[in-house]
Amino acid sequence: MSGQQRTTMSAGAITKSQFDLAADLLELEPYMRRLLRMPFRSVAVEVPVRMDDGSIEIFRGYRVQHNGARGPCKGGIRFHPEADEEEVLGLATTMTWKTALVDIPFGGAKGGVQVDPRKLSRRELEGVTRSFTRRISIVLGPYRDIPAPDMGTNAQVMAWLLDEYSARAGYTPAVVTGKPVSLGGSLGREEATGRGCVYCMQEYSEDFGLPIKDSRVVIQGFGNVGAHVALFLHELGAKVVAATDVDGGLLNENGLDVPELFAHAYRERKPVAEFRGGQTITNEELWKIPCDWLVPAALGGVINRETNARIIDCKVVVEAANSPTTPSADRILEERGITVLPDFLVNAGGVVVSYFEWVQNLQQHPWSLERVNSELREKMRRAYRQVRDLVKERNIAWRTAAYMIALSRVAEAERLRGN
Ligand code: NAD
Repeated sequence: MSGQQRTTMSAGAITKSQFDLAADLLELEPYMRRLLRMPFRSVAVEVPVRMDDGSIEIFRGYRVQHNGARGPCKGGIRFHPEADEEEVLGLATTMTWKTALVDIPFGGAKGGVQVDPRKLSRRELEGVTRSFTRRISIVLGPYRDIPAPDMGTNAQVMAWLLDEYSARAGYTPAVVTGKPVSLGGSLGREEATGRGCVYCMQEYSEDFGLPIKDSRVVIQGFGNVGAHVALFLHELGAKVVAATDVDGGLLNENGLDVPELFAHAYRERKPVAEFRGGQTITNEELWKIPCDWLVPAALGGVINRETNARIIDCKVVVEAANSPTTPSADRILEERGITVLPDFLVNAGGVVVSYFEWVQNLQQHPWSLERVNSELREKMRRAYRQVRDLVKERNIAWRTAAYMIALSRVAEAERLRGN
């Protein structure tokens, strides 16, 4: 995604505080906490690139492999001016918990280059990708570390990465996921995160008697994740009453015309607020709108004590974005009886289908879209139910339960390996 800003609390700080709570409940030994907190390997590189004017610019790049006890490290590469080592480590750590929670045989990693891709020509963007790939290729590999797209990168960037890596190692499609389908990408990958989110919501809806049909939905962010969540919920009969992007958005008490808005804002990349079919609102006004499901699908740290945790008026927060809720806001929402379905459960659909892509590449056997979606549903349902059962058994928050499951799986793998 583009346009993400650094919030008051970094993703790293948010995940650390959440980790401590679950580690206490699991009574993890101090050495194990240290092992699970620290990265297995962190590589910092200089990324020289010849620019269009003939000069050479040097960017800073990172690849952090947080943990690989359960399988090869897995995680996206972002191109963003604020993608520093701390931010990348926080995101790599979340990937470890996410892959463990949905029980796919991967660990966690993340990469970043401190560059603003909007300021690069296409040729310069390719140059950054190839130079970064050359510098980190020694720590990549289909059984070592498998990147994917993230903020500021896309399927084309993954295609260049594949080409650069394969020039050294030979044809290796399984070294990267999120590729174009014609280069071995998986059907269903583009919409997988949104689809996985909605699968979780359907499970919750059945368990807790909150029907999706006719429910009111408010969504912040109308990019890949937010737009697909809106579309799938609309297909299930929900009323998406408000949606925003970076420039604000729209409210329509009767429900927005989601398929038309999807075409306008997602396919044609036009601002949500320019769509005719609602009253314009700001991102601040969004939080006050009464709804059943509130779906932050843009930035980290947007739900916080200072601005909106006390005024949000919903039954369930569905964390489609990474780290949208700060720990103090989490406590306020819990006191107010609002359920928060945590990010690394609900937005894991993307990495699950990345895993399917890797499997298809290793076997050189593409799956049908039906198979991708039905196996995704199964993975999401299983993870959701395991978290739900622990929530009920221990009477704890969903996030804490999800952390407990993920941490115990990674700790068990570490112990079995002799640590
Ligand atoms: P995207 O770039 O496709 O869309 C982001 C949307 O957020 C855009 O509509 C943008 O205008 C909006 N936005 C940006 N700044 C905003 C602001 N200040 N206020 C309101 N809206 C703002 O990104 P995406 O891929 O949809 O990712 C969204 C979130 O989901 C991120 O937190 C990302 O880390 C997380 N996520 C994405 C995936 C995936 O597969 N794409 C997987 C897991 C998690």
